[in-house]
Amino acid sequence: MTTRDTTGERVTVNGSEYAVPTRPTVVITVDGGATSYFSAALDAGVMPNLRDMLAGGAFMGEGLSEMPSFTNPNNMSIVTGVPPAVHGVPGNYARTEDGAERLLNEPSALRADSIHSAFQAAGHPTLAVTAKDKLRRLLAHGGVPSVSSERAHELRLEAYGIDSITDLVGRPNPHIYDWEASAYAMDIGLAVHRAAGPLTLVYVSLTDYVQHHQPPGSALASRFYQAFDVRLGHYLAEGFAVGITADHGMNAKHHADGSPRVIYLEDELADLDPKVHVVLPITDPYTAHHGSLGSFAWVYVTADKRAAAMERLAEVPGITEVYGGQESAVMFELPRNLVGDIAVTSDRGTVVGRSRVFHDQAALPSGLRSHGGRYEQVVPVIVSEPLAPGYLATVQGRPLRNRYIHDLLLNGLRGPCHVGVGR
Ligand SMILES: [Zn+2]
Repeated sequence: MTTRDTTGERVTVNGSEYAVPTRPTVVITVDGGATSYFSAALDAGVMPNLRDMLAGGAFMGEGLSEMPSFTNPNNMSIVTGVPPAVHGVPGNYARTEDGAERLLNEPSALRADSIHSAFQAAGHPTLAVTAKDKLRRLLAHGGVPSVSSERAHELRLEAYGIDSITDLVGRPNPHIYDWEASAYAMDIGLAVHRAAGPLTLVYVSLTDYVQHHQPPGSALASRFYQAFDVRLGHYLAEGFAVGITADHGMNAKHHADGSPRVIYLEDELADLDPKVHVVLPITDPYTAHHGSLGSFAWVYVTADKRAAAMERLAEVPGITEVYGGQESAVMFELPRNLVGDIAVTSDRGTVVGRSRVFHDQAALPSGLRSHGGRYEQVVPVIVSEPLAPGYLATVQGRPLRNRYIHDLLLNGLRGPCHVGVGR
Protein backbone atom coordinates (compact mmCIF):
# COMPACT_ATOMS: atom_id res chain seq x y z
CA MET A 1 0.00 0.00 0.00
CA THR A 2 1.48 3.34 -0.98
CA THR A 3 0.09 6.76 -0.37
CA ARG A 4 0.59 9.34 -3.04
CA ASP A 5 1.51 12.86 -1.99
CA THR A 6 -1.62 14.88 -2.62
CA THR A 7 -0.52 18.06 -0.84
CA GLY A 8 -2.01 21.04 -2.61
CA GLU A 9 -4.15 19.04 -5.02
CA ARG A 10 -7.70 20.21 -5.65
CA VAL A 11 -10.74 18.73 -7.30
CA THR A 12 -13.44 21.01 -8.70
CA VAL A 13 -17.03 19.82 -8.83
CA ASN A 14 -20.31 21.73 -9.22
CA GLY A 15 -18.47 25.03 -9.04
CA SER A 16 -16.67 24.33 -5.76
CA GLU A 17 -13.08 23.36 -5.11
CA TYR A 18 -12.25 20.63 -2.64
CA ALA A 19 -8.74 19.99 -1.33
CA VAL A 20 -7.62 16.40 -1.76
CA PRO A 21 -6.82 15.20 1.77
CA THR A 22 -3.50 13.53 2.47
CA ARG A 23 -5.22 11.00 4.71
CA PRO A 24 -8.44 9.04 4.54
CA THR A 25 -11.61 11.01 5.05
CA VAL A 26 -15.14 9.77 5.71
CA VAL A 27 -18.54 11.40 5.93
CA ILE A 28 -21.20 9.43 7.78
CA THR A 29 -24.86 10.38 7.32
CA VAL A 30 -26.95 9.13 10.23
CA ASP A 31 -30.37 8.68 8.64
CA GLY A 32 -32.92 10.41 10.86
CA GLY A 33 -30.12 11.31 13.25
CA ALA A 34 -31.65 14.31 15.00
CA THR A 35 -29.29 16.09 17.39
CA SER A 36 -31.47 14.93 20.30
CA TYR A 37 -30.36 11.32 19.67
CA PHE A 38 -26.69 12.31 19.96
CA SER A 39 -27.34 14.44 23.07
CA ALA A 40 -29.27 11.67 24.82
CA ALA A 41 -26.59 9.10 23.97
CA LEU A 42 -23.82 11.44 25.17
CA ASP A 43 -25.75 12.09 28.40
CA ALA A 44 -26.21 8.34 28.91
CA GLY A 45 -22.46 7.85 28.54
CA VAL A 46 -22.71 5.42 25.61
CA MET A 47 -20.68 7.55 23.17
CA PRO A 48 -17.24 7.87 24.79
CA ASN A 49 -15.44 8.31 21.46
CA LEU A 50 -17.67 11.17 20.39
CA ARG A 51 -17.37 12.68 23.87
CA ASP A 52 -13.57 12.57 23.71
CA MET A 53 -13.58 13.91 20.16
CA LEU A 54 -15.68 16.90 21.25
CA ALA A 55 -13.51 17.44 24.33
CA GLY A 56 -10.53 17.51 21.96
CA GLY A 57 -11.96 20.47 20.05
CA ALA A 58 -14.03 18.77 17.36
CA PHE A 59 -16.55 21.03 15.67
CA MET A 60 -20.21 20.36 16.43
CA GLY A 61 -23.02 22.58 15.28
CA GLU A 62 -26.59 22.41 14.08
CA GLY A 63 -27.43 23.15 10.49
CA LEU A 64 -30.19 22.85 7.95
CA SER A 65 -31.03 19.86 5.84
CA GLU A 66 -32.85 20.24 2.53
CA MET A 67 -36.61 20.63 2.38
CA PRO A 68 -38.51 18.45 2.03
CA SER A 69 -36.55 16.76 4.81
CA PHE A 70 -36.36 13.34 3.18
CA THR A 71 -33.59 10.84 2.58
CA ASN A 72 -32.84 10.99 -1.16
CA PRO A 73 -32.70 14.77 -1.65
CA ASN A 74 -30.46 15.16 1.37
CA ASN A 75 -28.08 12.33 0.57
CA MET A 76 -27.68 13.76 -2.91
CA SER A 77 -27.06 17.26 -1.51
CA ILE A 78 -24.47 15.91 0.91
CA VAL A 79 -22.51 14.09 -1.81
CA THR A 80 -22.82 16.82 -4.46
CA GLY A 81 -22.55 19.91 -2.24
CA VAL A 82 -25.47 21.56 -4.06
CA PRO A 83 -29.25 21.91 -3.47
CA PRO A 84 -31.97 19.79 -5.13
CA ALA A 85 -32.54 22.53 -7.74
CA VAL A 86 -29.05 21.72 -9.04
CA HIS A 87 -28.77 17.96 -8.45
CA GLY A 88 -32.35 17.26 -9.52
CA VAL A 89 -33.72 15.05 -6.71
CA PRO A 90 -36.47 16.81 -4.67
CA GLY A 91 -37.84 13.70 -2.91
CA ASN A 92 -37.77 9.94 -2.71
CA TYR A 93 -40.71 9.94 -5.11
CA ALA A 94 -42.20 12.43 -7.56
CA ARG A 95 -44.69 13.03 -10.32
CA THR A 96 -42.91 13.86 -13.56
CA GLU A 97 -44.06 16.25 -16.27
CA ASP A 98 -45.75 13.45 -18.22
CA GLY A 99 -47.96 12.71 -15.20
CA ALA A 100 -46.20 9.46 -14.29
CA GLU A 101 -45.14 8.87 -10.71
CA ARG A 102 -41.89 7.18 -9.90
CA LEU A 103 -39.28 6.50 -7.27
CA LEU A 104 -36.25 8.77 -7.63
CA ASN A 105 -33.73 5.96 -7.15
CA GLU A 106 -32.25 5.96 -10.64
CA PRO A 107 -29.10 7.81 -11.68
CA SER A 108 -31.12 9.26 -14.58
CA ALA A 109 -32.76 11.55 -11.98
CA LEU A 110 -29.40 13.18 -11.22
CA ARG A 111 -28.19 16.35 -12.93
CA ALA A 112 -24.98 16.91 -10.97
CA ASP A 113 -21.82 14.92 -10.33
CA SER A 114 -20.94 13.84 -6.84
CA ILE A 115 -17.76 14.96 -5.12
CA HIS A 116 -16.88 11.27 -5.00
CA SER A 117 -17.21 10.76 -8.75
CA ALA A 118 -14.94 13.76 -9.34
CA PHE A 119 -12.37 12.40 -6.87
CA GLN A 120 -12.58 8.96 -8.45
CA ALA A 121 -12.09 10.42 -11.94
CA ALA A 122 -9.05 12.34 -10.69
CA GLY A 123 -7.49 9.08 -9.51
CA HIS A 124 -8.30 9.32 -5.80
CA PRO A 125 -9.98 6.10 -4.62
CA THR A 126 -13.47 6.49 -3.20
CA LEU A 127 -16.22 4.29 -1.83
CA ALA A 128 -19.90 4.81 -1.09
CA VAL A 129 -21.61 2.47 1.36
CA THR A 130 -25.33 2.70 2.03
CA ALA A 131 -27.43 0.64 4.40
CA LYS A 132 -30.49 1.06 2.13
CA ASP A 133 -29.99 -0.34 -1.34
CA LYS A 134 -32.37 2.32 -2.74
CA LEU A 135 -29.53 4.83 -2.58
CA ARG A 136 -26.81 2.64 -4.06
CA ARG A 137 -27.20 3.47 -7.74
CA LEU A 138 -27.60 7.18 -7.05
CA LEU A 139 -24.37 7.15 -5.04
CA ALA A 140 -22.62 5.04 -7.69
CA HIS A 141 -23.40 7.59 -10.43
CA GLY A 142 -20.25 8.68 -12.22
CA GLY A 143 -18.23 5.55 -11.43
CA VAL A 144 -18.13 5.57 -7.61
CA PRO A 145 -17.57 2.03 -6.26
CA SER A 146 -20.72 1.44 -4.20
CA VAL A 147 -22.27 -1.26 -2.04
CA SER A 148 -25.19 -1.63 0.35
CA SER A 149 -25.63 -3.55 3.62
CA GLU A 150 -29.01 -4.64 2.35
CA ARG A 151 -27.55 -6.54 -0.62
CA ALA A 152 -24.01 -7.14 0.66
CA HIS A 153 -24.56 -10.90 0.25
CA GLU A 154 -24.97 -10.58 -3.52
CA LEU A 155 -22.91 -7.56 -4.53
CA ARG A 156 -19.26 -7.46 -5.57
CA LEU A 157 -16.84 -4.57 -5.51
CA GLU A 158 -15.09 -5.08 -8.80
CA ALA A 159 -13.10 -1.86 -8.61
CA TYR A 160 -11.26 -3.23 -5.60
CA GLY A 161 -11.23 -6.91 -6.57
CA ILE A 162 -13.60 -7.87 -3.75
CA ASP A 163 -15.86 -10.80 -4.61
CA SER A 164 -17.59 -11.24 -1.28
CA ILE A 165 -18.43 -8.29 0.93
CA THR A 166 -19.80 -10.54 3.69
CA ASP A 167 -16.58 -12.61 3.76
CA LEU A 168 -14.60 -9.38 3.98
CA VAL A 169 -16.67 -8.10 6.92
CA GLY A 170 -16.56 -11.55 8.49
CA ARG A 171 -20.26 -12.02 9.24
CA PRO A 172 -23.56 -12.16 7.33
CA ASN A 173 -25.32 -8.89 6.57
CA PRO A 174 -28.34 -8.09 8.81
CA HIS A 175 -31.82 -7.58 7.35
CA ILE A 176 -32.59 -3.96 6.39
CA TYR A 177 -35.15 -3.85 9.25
CA ASP A 178 -32.48 -4.95 11.75
CA TRP A 179 -31.01 -2.24 14.00
CA GLU A 180 -27.50 -3.47 13.08
CA ALA A 181 -27.85 -2.76 9.33
CA SER A 182 -26.29 0.66 9.93
CA ALA A 183 -23.34 -0.64 11.97
CA TYR A 184 -22.74 -3.15 9.19
CA ALA A 185 -22.51 -0.34 6.63
CA MET A 186 -19.84 1.34 8.77
CA ASP A 187 -17.99 -1.98 9.03
CA ILE A 188 -18.02 -2.40 5.24
CA GLY A 189 -16.35 0.98 4.73
CA LEU A 190 -13.53 0.21 7.11
CA ALA A 191 -13.07 -3.38 5.87
CA VAL A 192 -12.70 -2.22 2.26
CA HIS A 193 -10.27 0.51 3.29
CA ARG A 194 -8.12 -2.01 5.15
CA ALA A 195 -8.24 -4.66 2.42
CA ALA A 196 -7.97 -2.55 -0.71
CA GLY A 197 -7.08 0.97 0.43
CA PRO A 198 -5.96 3.41 1.38
CA LEU A 199 -9.16 5.07 0.24
CA THR A 200 -9.15 8.84 -0.07
CA LEU A 201 -12.82 9.64 0.39
CA VAL A 202 -15.49 7.36 1.84
CA TYR A 203 -19.22 8.00 2.24
CA VAL A 204 -21.35 5.91 4.59
CA SER A 205 -25.12 6.44 4.70
CA LEU A 206 -27.04 4.66 7.45
CA THR A 207 -30.74 3.76 7.77
CA ASP A 208 -33.38 5.36 9.98
CA TYR A 209 -35.14 2.15 11.02
CA VAL A 210 -34.22 2.75 14.67
CA GLN A 211 -35.10 6.46 14.59
CA HIS A 212 -38.50 5.68 13.03
CA HIS A 213 -39.22 3.24 15.86
CA GLN A 214 -37.74 4.62 19.05
CA PRO A 215 -37.20 8.09 20.56
CA PRO A 216 -33.89 9.51 21.77
CA GLY A 217 -32.72 7.88 24.98
CA SER A 218 -34.69 4.64 24.42
CA ALA A 219 -33.00 1.26 24.86
CA LEU A 220 -32.84 0.61 21.11
CA ALA A 221 -31.53 4.10 20.36
CA SER A 222 -28.84 3.68 23.04
CA ARG A 223 -27.75 0.40 21.49
CA PHE A 224 -27.65 1.97 18.02
CA TYR A 225 -25.59 5.01 19.06
CA GLN A 226 -23.28 2.88 21.18
CA ALA A 227 -22.59 0.66 18.15
CA PHE A 228 -22.09 3.81 16.07
CA ASP A 229 -19.62 5.15 18.60
CA VAL A 230 -17.57 1.94 18.64
CA ARG A 231 -17.19 2.22 14.84
CA LEU A 232 -16.42 5.94 15.09
CA GLY A 233 -13.53 4.90 17.34
CA HIS A 234 -12.34 2.42 14.71
CA TYR A 235 -12.34 5.06 11.96
CA LEU A 236 -10.49 7.56 14.17
CA ALA A 237 -7.91 4.92 15.18
CA GLU A 238 -7.39 4.15 11.49
CA GLY A 239 -6.41 7.79 10.94
CA PHE A 240 -9.61 9.00 9.30
CA ALA A 241 -10.83 12.56 9.42
CA VAL A 242 -14.54 12.08 10.16
CA GLY A 243 -17.59 14.16 9.32
CA ILE A 244 -21.00 13.28 10.74
CA THR A 245 -24.35 14.70 9.74
CA ALA A 246 -27.95 13.62 9.18
CA ASP A 247 -30.30 13.73 6.22
CA HIS A 248 -33.20 14.85 8.44
CA GLY A 249 -34.42 14.73 12.01
CA MET A 250 -37.34 12.69 13.33
CA ASN A 251 -40.40 13.46 15.46
CA ALA A 252 -43.32 11.58 17.03
CA LYS A 253 -46.40 12.00 14.82
CA HIS A 254 -49.10 10.16 16.75
CA HIS A 255 -51.91 10.52 19.26
CA ALA A 256 -51.63 9.30 22.87
CA ASP A 257 -53.18 5.96 21.87
CA GLY A 258 -50.44 5.42 19.29
CA SER A 259 -52.62 6.07 16.22
CA PRO A 260 -51.00 8.39 13.65
CA ARG A 261 -52.02 12.06 13.64
CA VAL A 262 -52.82 12.40 9.94
CA ILE A 263 -54.43 15.06 7.79
CA TYR A 264 -55.91 13.37 4.71
CA LEU A 265 -55.43 16.05 2.09
CA GLU A 266 -57.55 14.52 -0.68
CA ASP A 267 -60.44 14.18 1.78
CA GLU A 268 -60.03 17.83 2.83
CA LEU A 269 -60.38 19.00 -0.78
CA ALA A 270 -62.63 16.36 -2.39
CA ASP A 271 -65.80 18.48 -2.45
CA LEU A 272 -63.92 21.49 -3.83
CA ASP A 273 -62.17 19.58 -6.61
CA PRO A 274 -63.05 15.93 -7.25
CA LYS A 275 -59.89 15.65 -9.36
CA VAL A 276 -57.56 16.50 -6.45
CA HIS A 277 -54.52 14.23 -6.34
CA VAL A 278 -51.83 14.11 -3.67
CA VAL A 279 -48.27 12.85 -4.18
CA LEU A 280 -46.27 11.89 -1.08
CA PRO A 281 -42.55 12.35 -1.72
CA ILE A 282 -41.57 10.28 1.35
CA THR A 283 -42.74 7.17 -0.54
CA ASP A 284 -39.98 4.58 -0.82
CA PRO A 285 -39.58 0.79 -0.68
CA TYR A 286 -39.29 0.84 3.14
CA THR A 287 -42.96 1.30 4.05
CA ALA A 288 -42.53 -0.41 7.42
CA HIS A 289 -40.62 2.73 8.44
CA HIS A 290 -43.40 5.24 7.92
CA GLY A 291 -46.37 3.90 5.92
CA SER A 292 -45.63 6.66 3.35
CA LEU A 293 -46.75 9.26 5.89
CA GLY A 294 -44.49 12.28 6.34
CA SER A 295 -44.80 16.02 6.92
CA PHE A 296 -44.65 17.16 3.29
CA ALA A 297 -46.95 16.64 0.31
CA TRP A 298 -47.52 17.84 -3.23
CA VAL A 299 -51.15 18.60 -4.12
CA TYR A 300 -52.33 18.58 -7.74
CA VAL A 301 -55.63 20.38 -8.43
CA THR A 302 -57.62 21.77 -11.35
CA ALA A 303 -56.07 25.13 -12.26
CA ASP A 304 -59.06 27.32 -11.38
CA LYS A 305 -59.42 25.64 -7.98
CA ARG A 306 -55.86 26.24 -6.84
CA ALA A 307 -56.36 29.52 -4.97
CA ALA A 308 -59.40 28.20 -3.10
CA ALA A 309 -57.58 24.94 -2.28
CA MET A 310 -54.60 26.85 -0.89
CA GLU A 311 -56.89 29.01 1.23
CA ARG A 312 -58.71 26.03 2.61
CA LEU A 313 -55.52 24.08 3.39
CA ALA A 314 -54.05 27.05 5.24
CA GLU A 315 -57.03 26.86 7.65
CA VAL A 316 -56.49 23.21 8.59
CA PRO A 317 -55.00 22.86 12.09
CA GLY A 318 -51.65 21.04 11.88
CA ILE A 319 -50.76 22.41 8.44
CA THR A 320 -47.96 24.91 8.86
CA GLU A 321 -47.05 26.09 5.35
CA VAL A 322 -48.89 26.22 2.03
CA TYR A 323 -47.09 27.41 -1.11
CA GLY A 324 -47.75 27.47 -4.81
CA GLY A 325 -45.52 24.92 -6.54
CA GLN A 326 -43.19 27.38 -8.26
CA GLU A 327 -43.06 29.49 -5.10
CA SER A 328 -41.93 26.39 -3.20
CA ALA A 329 -39.23 25.73 -5.81
CA VAL A 330 -37.77 29.15 -4.98
CA MET A 331 -38.31 28.78 -1.24
CA PHE A 332 -36.75 25.33 -0.97
CA GLU A 333 -34.32 25.39 -3.95
CA LEU A 334 -36.12 22.59 -5.78
CA PRO A 335 -36.11 21.56 -9.47
CA ARG A 336 -39.00 23.45 -11.06
CA ASN A 337 -40.16 20.54 -13.21
CA LEU A 338 -40.74 18.21 -10.26
CA VAL A 339 -42.92 20.34 -7.96
CA GLY A 340 -46.69 19.95 -7.61
CA ASP A 341 -49.37 22.65 -7.92
CA ILE A 342 -49.30 23.22 -4.16
CA ALA A 343 -46.71 22.36 -1.49
CA VAL A 344 -47.95 21.54 2.02
CA THR A 345 -45.97 21.01 5.20
CA SER A 346 -47.31 19.90 8.58
CA ASP A 347 -46.26 20.56 12.14
CA ARG A 348 -44.01 18.76 14.61
CA GLY A 349 -46.64 16.23 15.62
CA THR A 350 -48.61 15.78 12.38
CA VAL A 351 -48.25 13.99 9.03
CA VAL A 352 -50.10 14.48 5.76
CA GLY A 353 -51.55 11.65 3.70
CA ARG A 354 -53.72 11.10 0.65
CA SER A 355 -57.16 9.82 1.75
CA ARG A 356 -58.48 7.69 4.56
CA VAL A 357 -59.40 5.07 1.97
CA PHE A 358 -56.00 5.10 0.26
CA HIS A 359 -54.02 4.44 3.43
CA ASP A 360 -54.93 0.99 4.68
CA GLN A 361 -55.98 1.84 8.23
CA ALA A 362 -55.10 -1.63 9.50
CA ALA A 363 -51.56 -1.33 8.16
CA LEU A 364 -50.86 2.14 9.54
CA PRO A 365 -47.91 2.12 11.92
CA SER A 366 -48.61 2.49 15.63
CA GLY A 367 -46.51 5.09 17.42
CA LEU A 368 -45.55 6.69 14.10
CA ARG A 369 -42.32 8.70 14.07
CA SER A 370 -41.60 10.48 10.82
CA HIS A 371 -40.12 13.51 9.04
CA GLY A 372 -40.34 15.65 5.92
CA GLY A 373 -41.26 19.07 7.29
CA ARG A 374 -39.55 22.07 8.86
CA TYR A 375 -39.47 20.51 12.30
CA GLU A 376 -37.12 17.82 11.01
CA GLN A 377 -34.96 20.22 9.01
CA VAL A 378 -32.38 20.92 11.72
CA VAL A 379 -29.59 18.34 11.84
CA PRO A 380 -26.22 17.96 13.55
CA VAL A 381 -23.05 18.85 11.63
CA ILE A 382 -19.93 17.39 13.25
CA VAL A 383 -16.29 17.41 12.15
CA SER A 384 -13.75 15.38 14.09
CA GLU A 385 -11.22 18.21 14.48
CA PRO A 386 -11.21 21.96 15.04
CA LEU A 387 -11.89 24.13 12.01
CA ALA A 388 -9.14 26.50 10.95
CA PRO A 389 -9.71 30.14 12.00
CA GLY A 390 -9.05 31.28 8.41
CA TYR A 391 -11.70 28.93 7.08
CA LEU A 392 -14.19 29.97 9.75
CA ALA A 393 -13.66 33.62 8.82
CA THR A 394 -14.34 32.83 5.17
CA VAL A 395 -17.60 31.00 5.81
CA GLN A 396 -18.77 33.31 8.58
CA GLY A 397 -22.36 34.33 7.95
CA ARG A 398 -23.04 31.38 5.67
CA PRO A 399 -25.74 29.25 7.26
CA LEU A 400 -24.53 25.85 8.33
CA ARG A 401 -26.03 23.10 6.17
CA ASN A 402 -25.51 19.38 5.78
CA ARG A 403 -24.61 19.98 2.12
CA TYR A 404 -21.45 21.79 3.28
CA ILE A 405 -20.08 18.86 5.29
CA HIS A 406 -17.54 17.94 2.61
CA ASP A 407 -16.45 21.58 2.36
CA LEU A 408 -15.94 21.71 6.13
CA LEU A 409 -14.05 18.44 6.21
CA LEU A 410 -11.89 18.85 3.09
CA ASN A 411 -11.32 22.61 3.12
CA GLY A 412 -11.85 23.60 6.73
CA LEU A 413 -9.53 21.58 8.95
CA ARG A 414 -6.35 23.06 10.29
CA GLY A 415 -3.08 21.20 10.53
CA PRO A 416 -0.46 20.09 8.05
CA CYS A 417 -2.64 17.39 6.51
CA HIS A 418 -5.18 19.79 5.17
CA VAL A 419 -4.58 22.79 3.01
CA GLY A 420 -7.62 25.02 2.70
CA VAL A 421 -8.76 26.17 -0.70
CA GLY A 422 -7.35 29.62 -1.22
CA ARG A 423 -7.65 30.30 2.46
ZN1 LIG B 1 -33.72 9.42 5.83
